[in-house]
Amino acid sequence: MLLSCSGWACTRLISVSKVPGGNPVARQDPDGFAIEFMICDFCGSNFCDRCHEPGSRFRAPRCTSCGGKLVSGARLEQMSGRPRPAAAQHHAQAVRLMESGRFQDALPELDEAVRLRPEYAEAHRVRGIALSGTGRHAEALAAFDQALQLNPSDALAHVERAGTFLRMERPAEAIAAYDQAIALRPGYAAPQINRAIILMDGGRDAEALAAVDRAIALLTSGSAVGAGRYDLASAHSVKGAALVKLGRYAEALPVIDYAIDNGPDSWNDHYNKSYALERLGRIEESERARGIADSLRNS
Ligand SMILES: [Zn+2]
Ligand SMILES: [Zn+2]
Repeated sequence: MLLSCSGWACTRLISVSKVPGGNPVARQDPDGFAIEFMICDFCGSNFCDRCHEPGSRFRAPRCTSCGGKLVSGARLEQMSGRPRPAAAQHHAQAVRLMESGRFQDALPELDEAVRLRPEYAEAHRVRGIALSGTGRHAEALAAFDQALQLNPSDALAHVERAGTFLRMERPAEAIAAYDQAIALRPGYAAPQINRAIILMDGGRDAEALAAVDRAIALLTSGSAVGAGRYDLASAHSVKGAALVKLGRYAEALPVIDYAIDNGPDSWNDHYNKSYALERLGRIEESERARGIADSLRNS
């Protein structure tokens, strides 16, 4: 049996086997598979041996999501038959609702989860996302602060906090929050890309270009963690826009084409392409790109 690890951005699978010493295939690929793991006795999350804190003689390691006690993975069978506590059920229900965009309906579930279990870091973060998504920005910031107090290594809480500052049109604080996420998880490209967008929107185009170049270097180095499918395409999209703003039209074109070929349709990319082509005197191609931009914008 294979389980997934709940550690942040962990891609290892947990191999559960009756074979003494563990499944031989899993043992040969320690980066792909974990044999040793722990289970949270409250929320039931599994953590591979690289993703939980070590614990000590006097204190069992704790679940970073809910603060529960972690117990040996050997107790999996015994644990799996038990019903989840109410706080964990409310949290799980809220996550399901939010996956279908029902932030408003998720809020009472999350209120209940943190009322029943005030130390539930992840429920505070998810509650912050639901509050931010329903326009209750100040309360969202307070929820993210609580999440971070309970779990200071929660990079996602910093990222969501940054997004909330942006919605409140407080870009300087958004940048500071992204900086915290980046300091915590240098291999996480998304906050670097988002930070570059804010710099560019603030007219700091050269800084934006340098920041997005670092994100592209990270994403192509193979050492990025938590990367999304379109991260590299969006980074190129931002880089292309920065180059256009800096008047470096010829350099911008292949960068924008990379974003167009590898990312979701964006009128912005075609618009920037059209603009760069026009400035380079390639009017016919520019008009074609402009036509695509217009049709995407109106669709
Ligand atoms: Zn837990
Ligand atoms: Zn893990």
